Amino acid sequence: MHEMSLAEGVLQLIEDAARRDEFNKVSTVWLEIGQLSGVEAEAMAFCFDAVTRNTVADGARLEIITLPGQGWCMACDKTVHMTEVFDECPHCGGYPLQVTAGTEMRVKELEVS
Ligand SMILES: [Zn+2]
Repeated sequence: MHEMSLAEGVLQLIEDAARRDEFNKVSTVWLEIGQLSGVEAEAMAFCFDAVTRNTVADGARLEIITLPGQGWCMACDKTVHMTEVFDECPHCGGYPLQVTAGTEMRVKELEVS
């Protein structure tokens, strides 16, 4: 489950921010997950709970924001919505699509106290 190492990355980021901005408790974390990032929201939430135990983010609420996937079809020059990395073009069946958005995962905002 690669979500575990991703969750550790998120925690690292939060701890860096805690040192920089001098807070010692995080109550909510907004995490953006692209639809094509391969990250499963449920697994992510589970791992986040596990890795944040006894840290500044212990007990923090994880709010996951799903970012839509988007790709560009070379064949018909259209930008299309994608739900899977290996989707084909819904207009012309063109393949492969060039992924243009939705592969990222990042912390959008922290609510701290
Ligand atoms: Zn197309």
